Amino acid sequence: MAGRVAVISDVHANWHALRAVLEAIDSEEPDEIWCLGDLVGYGPRPNPCCESVRERAAVCLAGNHDLGVLGQLDLEEFAPDAVVSARWTRGVLRDEPRAYLESLKPTARTAGVELFHASPRDPVWDYVLSAEAAEAAFELTEEPLVLVGHSHVPLALAAGNGAMAGGVAPEGTEAELDAGARLVLNPGSVGQPRDGDPRAAWLLLDYGAGRASFRRVAYPVERTQEEIRERGLPDALAERLARGI
Ligand code: ZN
Repeated sequence: MAGRVAVISDVHANWHALRAVLEAIDSEEPDEIWCLGDLVGYGPRPNPCCESVRERAAVCLAGNHDLGVLGQLDLEEFAPDAVVSARWTRGVLRDEPRAYLESLKPTARTAGVELFHASPRDPVWDYVLSAEAAEAAFELTEEPLVLVGHSHVPLALAAGNGAMAGGVAPEGTEAELDAGARLVLNPGSVGQPRDGDPRAAWLLLDYGAGRASFRRVAYPVERTQEEIRERGLPDALAERLARGI
């Protein structure tokens, strides 16, 4: 197990958010970066986001939006704004980023950690937002730590003594990483946070210190909004970024 790992998810082609997060990550000098998927969809800058994650992340999963853009999922299952942006993304995605997305899978496993874009029950579509979904996530996995993305809401859930503790994890939340405990953690979203905090989210796993900490970083939201509008993508996708919904 690497000593310190930065975990990111749901970048959604928001280049200014990704840049701010990578700068914050660099100042912590982690051993590795892991990404839980959805590099593209919704946002205006799919190519640099894919290229940057490809260069930097030791592990990266495929998300439902990545698979939708590639044509591996039917766009009929997506919301209308997501369909518009997925079609637009197909048209602008260059060969290398496309090949990178095609190489990704929605799950991964390393020593001590199972990773899913969405959940162990359904790695592509299921949201871990209820106690029932969290219980299923613990039941269907074996490793002490389970990482999920997809909901765009940072989450820290601990199982122990037959009860579950935790919930939404705003900036500054810390969870104990020790050998005995089982955790489900969601880092939140880099490019389209939905917990009411518009700042980009990421998670630092520090095995040496025995602690996971939830981080937020401000980025120039208005620059991404301008890019969304310049490309003629739905205005609601720009508006929601300012409110973190
Ligand atoms: Zn997503």
